[in-house]
Amino acid sequence: TYQGKTSKIKSLDKDTINQICSGQVILDLSTAVKEVIENSLDAKATSIEIQFNNYGLDSITIIDNGIGINPDDYESIALPHYTSKLQEFNQLEQLSTYGFRGEALSSICASSNLVIISCTKEQEPMGVKLEYDYQGNLVKKESVARKQGTTIYMKNFFELFPVRQKTFKKNIRREYAKCLSILQGYALVCTDVKIVCSNKPPKGSRDICFSTQCNKLMKDNISNIFGSKVTKLLTEIDFSFNINSGITIKGFISQPTNSCGRNSNDRQYYFINQRPCDLQKISKCINEVYRMFNMHQYPIVVVNIEVKSDEYDINVTPNKRTILIHNEEELVTQLREELIKFCEPYRNIVATSGIN
Ligand code: ADP
Ligand code: MG
Repeated sequence: TYQGKTSKIKSLDKDTINQICSGQVILDLSTAVKEVIENSLDAKATSIEIQFNNYGLDSITIIDNGIGINPDDYESIALPHYTSKLQEFNQLEQLSTYGFRGEALSSICASSNLVIISCTKEQEPMGVKLEYDYQGNLVKKESVARKQGTTIYMKNFFELFPVRQKTFKKNIRREYAKCLSILQGYALVCTDVKIVCSNKPPKGSRDICFSTQCNKLMKDNISNIFGSKVTKLLTEIDFSFNINSGITIKGFISQPTNSCGRNSNDRQYYFINQRPCDLQKISKCINEVYRMFNMHQYPIVVVNIEVKSDEYDINVTPNKRTILIHNEEELVTQLREELIKFCEPYRNIVATSGIN
């Protein structure tokens, strides 16, 4: 296997690969987008720009100001199972980075044309432009001017898979909406990072879809993304539960009298220890309680759940969105009681404000 001199990137051994259920190819656009924004965050970027062209149909570019890619890693970075972030499975429990399987870039190569421009602090003002083939082999390398950071350029999605590409083109608006929703999750939860997302339609100029301003507080991210009108409908919650070694649920939720959305997944964002995820049982619980107070509305939810790192499992699904909290049933029961207490004072109040 390839190994550069000062490279931190190493191939995971077979057992570790099997344990973390790798071997997954990028299945859709939103997974690709999720992986690249996580890489930028892992690279400690404080500014991340995501540019869609034609809703992602033509290309997607992600520009960050992170630490850049170590030159010794250029050859290996897009090969399957190469990562600089994890060596043994037992490190998973203390994992502080988003990525750890070393398969995102290789999957992106298999699904699109990947070009990377990157520059480390030491290399400034000249970085490098790297092109990879479908197998993740480096095929072209040239010097280009670049400040510290990394640009990931992906185009021609699913070119090698005509059937997939046809479905992709047909469903592009839905795929694009899913991308935005995934990206908004990171933009909501990440403080001290400026995240700007834009799209350029085939005819017309580039539109900003949303942007955050390097805020210190999640509340200001919410305001940047949903607008101040929506933010006014929210109440801060801070629940503590005596489950496992203690679980807290903190964040913002709309009052049950406000009309906030008729689709259950409109504006509901869940995080575990700041990691965006899908928590179906918790979401279901919250929606059910709200329905007891307001038949037709779903609440806006932006909450972070703090759980000790060895009391949940993140690698249940390949895209790491599904997380299993130990004793989740108990958490749901206690959350339901807290929410009913929270909603009770609003029972006889007629809805006065709303956004629909
Ligand atoms: P993983 O994130 O699991 O390590 P990836 O395939 O996503 O695997 O990325 C492979 C490697 O490429 C990372 O470990 C990292 O060293 C490097 N890398 C990818 N994107 C960036 C980026 N935006 N900035 C700096 N390094 C990056
Ligand atoms: Mg990654």
